Amino acid sequence: PFLDDALSLFMQAGNPFMQIKVLIEKAQIAVDQGKPEEALRRLARAEEMATGESFLSQRIAIADTKARAFAAKGEHQSAYLVLLQNRQNRALLQKEINSRRILELQTRFDVEKQRAQNALLEEQNLRQQNQLKNEQRLQRYTIALIGLLVVVCGLLSWLYFNGKRHQKRLEQLANFDGLTGLMTRRKTMEDAELQYQMAQRHKTPLTAAVIDLDHFKQINDKYGHQTGDNVLRAFGRKAQKHFRKTDILGRIGGEEFLFLFPHTGTDDALDMLERFAGSVRKIPDELKIKTMQVTLSVGLVDATSFSNMTRVVAVADEALYEAKETGRDKIVTGQPSATDGQSQ
Ligand code: GH3
Ligand code: MG
Ligand code: MG
Repeated sequence: PFLDDALSLFMQAGNPFMQIKVLIEKAQIAVDQGKPEEALRRLARAEEMATGESFLSQRIAIADTKARAFAAKGEHQSAYLVLLQNRQNRALLQKEINSRRILELQTRFDVEKQRAQNALLEEQNLRQQNQLKNEQRLQRYTIALIGLLVVVCGLLSWLYFNGKRHQKRLEQLANFDGLTGLMTRRKTMEDAELQYQMAQRHKTPLTAAVIDLDHFKQINDKYGHQTGDNVLRAFGRKAQKHFRKTDILGRIGGEEFLFLFPHTGTDDALDMLERFAGSVRKIPDELKIKTMQVTLSVGLVDATSFSNMTRVVAVADEALYEAKETGRDKIVTGQPSATDGQSQ
């Protein structure tokens, strides 16, 4: 009666597996009670439900009980046939179980393989990320280093060029007079000595002139010191325009100058200086002071006629003195004395 209750419950629940199981149970009880006909009826009901591939194991259990029922009935031939059939079904079931296991194993293997591959990929990914990070760091360091080098190079070149500029400026200050732009006394003497030595060695002409502005004190007194400065400035500008780049044009005193003309004889130098004096005479016009007069007195000498540069300047000075004494605004050529001739 419990099994009957269970059967009706499983029927209501629509559970064919459990219904089959109960029917087989009831069939076995029937066989044990010596009622094989009843057992076969119940098994036939179970068989009706156990159709389709998913009921293979149930069909095997049904067939086993069926064989027992036939045996109990004395129908050994039928029992044997059922058991024979069951053997085939068992083999089929085993095969199915095996293939299911293989599939399961295959799936598990695939999952493991996939997992291993994933781990490998993850590791590779991590490695690549690290590599990328390192490369980026290296790139940052390189850029920083290059920047630093550029800054250092910039600083060094700035220092170098600034030093050069500074040096040039110092040279300019030391060698050139700020007012007239002509050479300073020291530089004039140095260069004059050099030119004198060259002319002596190569037997080339060299003419020297000492120039002094006439009555400059009066210009200062009458028109002011500023105007005096302007006259000196104009004088320097004119001299640089008038003579060659290779000529030595130096300011050796307040309004006193020493000019040296390499590769130039006294006659040519005289011509040049006369034209220059003419140009200097126009300074008042340029400064728009009509009443002012700017003239030059010049002592000219052939530098190659003397044994040293000191002597050249001394004789030129004497000639200049003579020009001053004899009325100014003129060029006097100094001659070597007898002793100068001897030393030649
Ligand atoms: P002399 O014809 O005999 O040469 O007469 P001088 O007045 O030119 O001669 P002196 O040597 O007596 O005077 C030169 C003057 O030049 C004196 C000085 O005040 C002036 N002087 C010298 N250097 C400068 C300067 O840089 N600027 C100005 N404005 N005057 C200067
Ligand atoms: Mg003077
Ligand atoms: Mg003077």
